[in-house]
Amino acid sequence: MTPAAPSGRSASRPTLRAGVRGVSDSVRVIVFGRQGAGKGTQCARIAAHFGVPHVSTGEILREAIARDSVLGRAAREVLDDGGLVEDSVMISLVQGRLGEQDARTSGYVLDGFPRTLPQARALDAMTAARPAHCVVDLEVPREVVVERLLSRRRADDTHEAIHHRLDLYEAQTAPLIGHYRARGSLRVVDGVGSPDEVFERLRGTIAACLA
Ligand code: AMP
Repeated sequence: MTPAAPSGRSASRPTLRAGVRGVSDSVRVIVFGRQGAGKGTQCARIAAHFGVPHVSTGEILREAIARDSVLGRAAREVLDDGGLVEDSVMISLVQGRLGEQDARTSGYVLDGFPRTLPQARALDAMTAARPAHCVVDLEVPREVVVERLLSRRRADDTHEAIHHRLDLYEAQTAPLIGHYRARGSLRVVDGVGSPDEVFERLRGTIAACLA
């Protein structure tokens, strides 16, 4: 959710400044990927590079839980169980965030939303005038992410919780990839490799979408 610092914003948009696109053009990217695919880290790097806010719905929910806000109290149990927060809650949260000045001006890297078909349809409707330039599927095979998640051993990364979240991803989120593929905006990026290698692939793919 943390927007790039204004000072970093202009400095980190060399590709846009040097290219044919004007500096006021925004960059709008949606990133999919299994838990453990490195999506959060890569989205933060993409956001810094292109000078746009990183809108992570998981991060927004975790901050709300830490603040013990109304949203946080409603979301806490769902996150603990590894389930999904209600569509209507998530849709109004994202609608509000994308309506903020920084996102309206610069665009966004959307990380963790949409996660269900109703969320995708709502996002289509709210961005109909200015749809995402690029929808990226950061592809890391399931067995590779399970290995990664088990080796980092966070408290909520039990074997069961990991498989539950991955099953949920396959069941609810993977079909969205078909939704965007059908619209021709999907780009599959190989997420296996060093963080720098993966970032270079993502940067190149997004730059190509913007060209
Ligand atoms: P993440 O950091 O993206 O893995 O999100 C952490 C948790 O927040 C998820 O396991 C869900 O419980 C919840 N969450 C984040 N984004 C969404 C969403 N778009 N829809 C429903 N729940 C979400």
